[in-house]
Amino acid sequence: MAEGEPLEMPFLRNIGLIVTYRCQVACPHCIIEAGPHRREEMQLHDALAWIDQIAAYRGGHIKVLSLTGGEPFYDVARLKVIADTGAARGLLVSAVTNAFWATSQPEAERVLRRVSAIRMIALSTDTYHQQSIPFARVRNAIAAAQALDIAYNVAVCTEREDDPAYRAVLAQLHEIVHPDLVNTAITFPVGRAAERIGLDRYQTSETPPIAACSAGSAPIIFPDGRVIACIGPVIDLRHEHPLCYGNLREKTLAEILDAAEVNPILHTIRVWGPRKLISLLQEAGRNDLLPERYIQDSVCHACYSLMANPDTVAWLDELAADRAYREKVAYARLYYLQETRMLELMAEREGLQLQVSRGPS
Ligand code: SF4
Repeated sequence: MAEGEPLEMPFLRNIGLIVTYRCQVACPHCIIEAGPHRREEMQLHDALAWIDQIAAYRGGHIKVLSLTGGEPFYDVARLKVIADTGAARGLLVSAVTNAFWATSQPEAERVLRRVSAIRMIALSTDTYHQQSIPFARVRNAIAAAQALDIAYNVAVCTEREDDPAYRAVLAQLHEIVHPDLVNTAITFPVGRAAERIGLDRYQTSETPPIAACSAGSAPIIFPDGRVIACIGPVIDLRHEHPLCYGNLREKTLAEILDAAEVNPILHTIRVWGPRKLISLLQEAGRNDLLPERYIQDSVCHACYSLMANPDTVAWLDELAADRAYREKVAYARLYYLQETRMLELMAEREGLQLQVSRGPS
């Protein structure tokens, strides 16, 4: 995505729940290190209470509830309760799955009918998943979704887009789904992938990627109550950073999301990409806070590299405290993304005098 180009996903219209860390398989690229050995899952009473808060936020501002994990279909009865509650609260419910349950098309249709509140599924398949889950399962799940009129897409991970094995998976997929329904993501060398996939597998560059972030609009809630800006590699960090919004055991969802609306670091990444922060650090003579190399075309790796360094985070915190910078970002959101909420909240809380004819410099 080019700098300044409007994003497709509006801010805070979609929120995710990590319903479980359990999964039938332990893929080498899994950033949350899900697997059969994991026992942690979102408590049902937490999930239902948080869905109530999601549905109530700003009178129904959030439209989509994305259920992910781990493997949400690990426990279909539990998934049904969570999905039914989301749908009953007026949310469009989607789920991410590896399709392990789609042993045949009739069986896949049976499972999807059980969780009929789920109206969209995102199927994960790639060379990692296919080590344990045959491609036929994905084919069965797609056929079942088509038969039941459930929207679907397919997510594929790879370390590099010129990898022949990745190209082979794409070719398989293109035989059964339109290429527009297949989304590729670069595998991040964090979580389990940090141990199992070496950085030498990637194309790297001294230059950061130019694109803006396209996925920082949809926060994700963890079983322990943490709310993080996205399901990107920053979820692997354990220290405080600007993309870690807060914890639902300490604050309400409304407090956490309203603070996210005025988070200048997050919105810099959404409007201009991490490259903007990197150039501000360079202008300030702080090259010592920057990584030496970036994974080619991976906006998330550049973002992660900034957040992973506590000294860089301290510098970003100072930047976030600068009222003039916050104002600039708020106007940039209006100018590039047609988003007014940050300006409105700054006017309400900080006495900002709105100048609607002014664009960002
Ligand atoms: S660029 Fe950063 S905020 Fe955006 S999706 Fe990637 S890790 Fe998340």
